[in-house]
Amino acid sequence: MTSTLPACQTTCPYCGVGCGVQVTLTDKQTLQIEGDPTHPANLGRLCSKGSALAETVELPGRVLHPQIGGRRVSWEEAITTIAEKFKQIITEHGPDSVAFYVSGQLLTEDYYVANKLMKGFIGSGNIDTNSRLCMSTPVVAHQRAFGEDCVPVCYEDLEQAEMVVLAGSNLAWCHPVLFRRLSQAPGERFVVTIDPRRTYTTSLGGLHLAIKPGTDAVLFNGLLVYLYDQNLVDESFVANHTEGLKTAIAAARASAPDIASVARICELPAGDVATFYRRFAATERVVSAYSQGLNQSTSGVDKVNALINCHLVSGRIGKPGAGPFSLTGQPNAMGGREVGGLASQLAAHMALENEEDRSRVQRFWQSPTIAEKPGLKATALFDAILEGKIQAVWIMATNPAVSLPDADQVRRALECCPLVVVSECVQTTDTAVLADILLPAATWGEKDGTVTNSARVISRQRAFRSPPGESQPDWWIVTQVAKAMGYGQYFDYDSAARIFREHAALSGFENDGRRLFDISGLSSLSDEQYDSLLPRPWPITHSAPEGTSRLFADGRYPTENGRARFIAVEPALPAREISTSRPLVLNTGRVRDQWHTMTRTGASLRLSGHTPEPFVTVHPGDAEKLGLHHKELAWVRGHGGHEILARVHITSRQRPGSIFVPMHWNDFYTNQGRVNTLLENLVDPLSGQPEFKHQPVAVRPCHCEWFGFYITRVELHPQLKYALYWARVRLGQELWRYEVAGNDEPKAWPTRARELLEGEQGVWIEYHDSVRNQYRAAVLHEERLVACVYISRNPQIPPRDWLIELFERELLSKEERMTLLFGREGDETVDDHTVCACFKVSEPKIRQAIKEGYQSVEAIGQLLGAGQKCGSCLPELHELVSGE
Ligand code: SF4
Repeated sequence: MTSTLPACQTTCPYCGVGCGVQVTLTDKQTLQIEGDPTHPANLGRLCSKGSALAETVELPGRVLHPQIGGRRVSWEEAITTIAEKFKQIITEHGPDSVAFYVSGQLLTEDYYVANKLMKGFIGSGNIDTNSRLCMSTPVVAHQRAFGEDCVPVCYEDLEQAEMVVLAGSNLAWCHPVLFRRLSQAPGERFVVTIDPRRTYTTSLGGLHLAIKPGTDAVLFNGLLVYLYDQNLVDESFVANHTEGLKTAIAAARASAPDIASVARICELPAGDVATFYRRFAATERVVSAYSQGLNQSTSGVDKVNALINCHLVSGRIGKPGAGPFSLTGQPNAMGGREVGGLASQLAAHMALENEEDRSRVQRFWQSPTIAEKPGLKATALFDAILEGKIQAVWIMATNPAVSLPDADQVRRALECCPLVVVSECVQTTDTAVLADILLPAATWGEKDGTVTNSARVISRQRAFRSPPGESQPDWWIVTQVAKAMGYGQYFDYDSAARIFREHAALSGFENDGRRLFDISGLSSLSDEQYDSLLPRPWPITHSAPEGTSRLFADGRYPTENGRARFIAVEPALPAREISTSRPLVLNTGRVRDQWHTMTRTGASLRLSGHTPEPFVTVHPGDAEKLGLHHKELAWVRGHGGHEILARVHITSRQRPGSIFVPMHWNDFYTNQGRVNTLLENLVDPLSGQPEFKHQPVAVRPCHCEWFGFYITRVELHPQLKYALYWARVRLGQELWRYEVAGNDEPKAWPTRARELLEGEQGVWIEYHDSVRNQYRAAVLHEERLVACVYISRNPQIPPRDWLIELFERELLSKEERMTLLFGREGDETVDDHTVCACFKVSEPKIRQAIKEGYQSVEAIGQLLGAGQKCGSCLPELHELVSGE
């Protein structure tokens, strides 16, 4: 770190809630990160990930210099090489032979220049973003229903609602601060959670509909029919502000004529469906918040439109506490949509297919050309690379070798692509290692710009430290390449502020109220005003400079006739049904304390303990049929016979016939856990969003002769090839825990341990019980613990949270040394994961406290601190206390 400001207000880089963050330099020269009490998204709150941001500022393994083929080069050489190679390929094969694959992690200004270069100067639509994987479905659904990609509501609506429908959203883990806002909001509200899994979000109470995966459109069609048949249509609203109801009703009736049919198709109790419909009909203020459970589907757009239809028919939109609410996954997924970061969009909510729009943008940019058609969407783009149609790809701030479906195919595509440029902050991502040219990108806290959250609120991200090495902001890198390609006068930016002003001006250019995305009120900000810009929701015009929280209050929609459109939805079956060879439905998603492919959160010590390994959750009935045992390992086989290995969690939270596997793990953290290698590349035909929620798989036990763990200061995984399975978590700057399993004979364990830990200097103490098949060893250097090993035939491994504490001691007592070899009395083989990340409180500690009589969340909080800071663990604490 070369310079630090004493205080800075910025925005969290993780999810689409877009919380304001206050960064302060303490007297001890450490960074203190707190929620910004003035930010409208969070009003001071932060979740576990946001609270741990200070731990990830000094990311290990930064890319510090430009590299070509692994050789350090100057920026000038890297930029010139990229520009020349892109120009040469474009000359030989045309503009559609190159592509950019960008990210919802980029700031709006980065996104803006990348889109401008590709669509206006290279002349191709081939720029797509990883937001394709999370938000492209609502984009199309909004365009179909409202005429433009507009989220009608704001966060206050969620709090003001008397009923909240959470459809395909694990709010408690994926948007934790919104979950907190909802659970703390005054007044009573009825919450309906529609999710095949019983997630911690269901702790809000109300009604949980454990729907059959893939049948959501039938459930919403049934609601539309119910409202219509019960004469609960808002006649005046429908007559004056909508069109297409009759056709939508006819389509809905064909698939969902009555409650009994809906209950049968969705495999729900008819009484629960009736309760849902009755409560929706009887409640004025209803917000339906939805996320990946609807979006990541081969018929996601229809599912979302089926839900929006219900709000239109009942007039529950454009009013306080009412409306459909798409919760965005990434911090700047919305900003990417504003600038046209999707291959299917132009810029400033204009359409590539519209000649007037193309001409308007081209005139504004004064560009020599403009893309004439939409480019390739994410998965098609990588297919085209594999087919040789795309010869050069530039990937910015994303890790498609892990995050895209059929991830091994993506890896092969990158391996055979003639030119792969990657802008990254970390050297070792699964994608960065495949780069021909690797560029050091500045990351959170090191660059300036703006982001837009789920509620259309534009906030500043501010730099509070200098980028390390030669890292540069993405907008700077793109601009340099554009200049080297000969477009200097159009990319003559010297700051993010200049780019933002141009972006704001384009939004208002020849707008005349036709496009709701209009932030022209910010187009003449001075640099100082940009620096001090406060958060505000778009539209932001000269007549409404503070922005507009709720849309459609006047009943006017940005369609040609000003009316919202009902969409006739004929529910489609999932693209791939289960079969005898793959009889289970795989659903993938997030865990509470990790983000995407773990590049940042995996480096945080406090975030590593909640979910230390890749896992597969299985219903007890399925587990019995399949011969699976809790805490053992299982193979999950998917598309193309690909398999991953994960720890088995047996739980009645899981719906029979379905399994869940988290999306985060990559080759850096485990040896066989990239779940997206199992997924077939299936997409929604309208949005191109891939199916991550309904892929057929098979699960079988993985028989291992032994299970165990190593805690060590040396990185073991390059030598762990003999182990069938390993997964690691960071416990300290130089301390790792490896969970391992394999098939060697017990007599090999001591030899293996000594080979693996030969880098650890110190005195060995060992215990090998060949009758109980247990091996324990520890290495002590000057009385300090430097490594320990535990191997056993039994997968039920004793807790190790107390062991980790011993690594922090300068000196171990005689008793502690004994416990290293013989364990502690009363150690139970319980799940020892960390429940409270802020105060590092493990599940065994909480269970012990409950046994000792601390039987409320408050009492445990007072005793252990758990739940007293960010509150992300409160749903788990409630369940532990209530004994569920
Ligand atoms: Fe960041 Fe958590 Fe807020 Fe999301 S909810 S923006 S991850 S602090």
